[in-house]
Amino acid sequence: MLEQIADHTDDPSLDARAKLLLIHKYMASQKYVQAFTLANTLTKSLNTVADPDLHDRVLVQMIQMLVSQKQYDQALSYAKQLKSTATTDTRKCQGSYFVTNTQLQRLNVLTSSSPQFHETIDQCLAADMLSYANALRLNWASLMDDEGHTEQALAYLNRIAPDIIKTGYQAQIASLYVTRAQAYLIQRNYALASQWANKTLAANAPNNFNWTVQAAYEVLYKVQEHEGQYFAALSSYKKYIDQYKKSTSDAKAQALAYQIVQQEVLTKRLKLQELSKQNRILQLRQSLDRKSAETSRLYILLLLFVLASIGFWAYRTKHSQLRFRRMAREDDLTGTFNRQHFLDCASRLLQRMQKTDNEACLMILDMDHFKRVNDMYGHITGDVVLKHVTNICRHELRTSDVFGRLGGEEFGILMPGCTPQQGKEIGDRMRRALVNAPIQVLENESLTITASIGLASTRTSGYQLKRLLVHADEALYEAKRNGRNQLMISSGAANPETAAQPG
Ligand code: GH3
Ligand code: MG
Ligand code: MG
Repeated sequence: MLEQIADHTDDPSLDARAKLLLIHKYMASQKYVQAFTLANTLTKSLNTVADPDLHDRVLVQMIQMLVSQKQYDQALSYAKQLKSTATTDTRKCQGSYFVTNTQLQRLNVLTSSSPQFHETIDQCLAADMLSYANALRLNWASLMDDEGHTEQALAYLNRIAPDIIKTGYQAQIASLYVTRAQAYLIQRNYALASQWANKTLAANAPNNFNWTVQAAYEVLYKVQEHEGQYFAALSSYKKYIDQYKKSTSDAKAQALAYQIVQQEVLTKRLKLQELSKQNRILQLRQSLDRKSAETSRLYILLLLFVLASIGFWAYRTKHSQLRFRRMAREDDLTGTFNRQHFLDCASRLLQRMQKTDNEACLMILDMDHFKRVNDMYGHITGDVVLKHVTNICRHELRTSDVFGRLGGEEFGILMPGCTPQQGKEIGDRMRRALVNAPIQVLENESLTITASIGLASTRTSGYQLKRLLVHADEALYEAKRNGRNQLMISSGAANPETAAQPG
């Protein structure tokens, strides 16, 4: 359940609490890799733990584990942190205790005369943290022992013994006893040494293994050896070695677990670095792709722009070309073919007619007394009348007919596939249409325009354009002479009287 909580909760406090408990459980069941892995993640999330007491508990746990792994530098730094940031006397005592203890274990910088010991002991006593004070007292006594102040150490142990026994804390009671045993052994007081060693064993559960049991057997076998009880000494020695092996193998197991976790952490960090590098490369590649896509888009846009410009200019050019061509072909005023284009078209059409053995008619239309229109109403009105006449005539023509202005108020019309009679009918229709459509020249004055037409046919004049024009013009002259507003058909024979006056 604790594992599930630690895996799934989003609450940092709950997470830390679950992990702390789990670490205890793992350590107790010698699952050191799990314990150190958890401790490692817990250290990382230490800043997210808002509850100050829980924060300090985590610190205490870290310090204990680091001390057990002889990682004194790291432990000392956490201990100092705890000592300086702790908000309660209890935690302050713990901080001071770990600082002192770590300095004692790691650096041997402390001697039994260092005031730090008793300051810390007093601090913890004042905070009612008897077991911490006692632990330090026992350490101090051991240190005195090691320094050769055995007498003082024993006296001190006697003085603190009631406090230790009072707590009922077995490990410390055993520690008190075994420290006494060791002191008596140094003093060669074998009886008391043996007595306190046995008491140490009695204070432990039968199958316990810890440093007090180991130290007790060590004292025992030395006493027994001294007293010549070799079998007993051998038995004690075996037990001592057994404890020694167990404790070293456990320490080894813990150290190995610690190293495994450290390696895993290192590997993970390297992997993360590698991943972040790959990620960076990927990001760079993506941004490169984006840039090149952008560039491609720009090129495409540019290309489209260029194409559009070319298209636009091509259109403009074509448009102008068409306009120029039309201008070159058309008559400005009337919109019919101009003289030159009319002659070109008519000549080509006649050749085709001749090849396909088709006949055609050529008419020349000239407006009657047009000079008078100009004289009476002005040139501008004359132009309007010209356009009016053109529109009416065009209306009577077929799409295959070629219609052009030959000059002034004189028009040429070539009608392919047309007999003289059919041509005359079309011409007369035109004349009638003109008469029937008077044009308003002043506010209340309309003008009826008439025209005279001369017609020549390929049937009598042949397919040569020049000849057809001469003959049509002769017929026109005759129509004028006969009183105008009429159509005359050329007989095809040159009229000596009129041949000199083609339109
Ligand atoms: P007729 O019946 O004998 O043909 O008499 P007419 O007055 O029409 O004589 P003609 O055909 O010889 O005269 C053509 C006149 O048409 C001469 C000129 O004043 C006029 N004219 C020619 N071109 C234009 C033009 O573009 N605009 C205008 N308003 N008048 C033109
Ligand atoms: Mg005229
Ligand atoms: Mg004329």
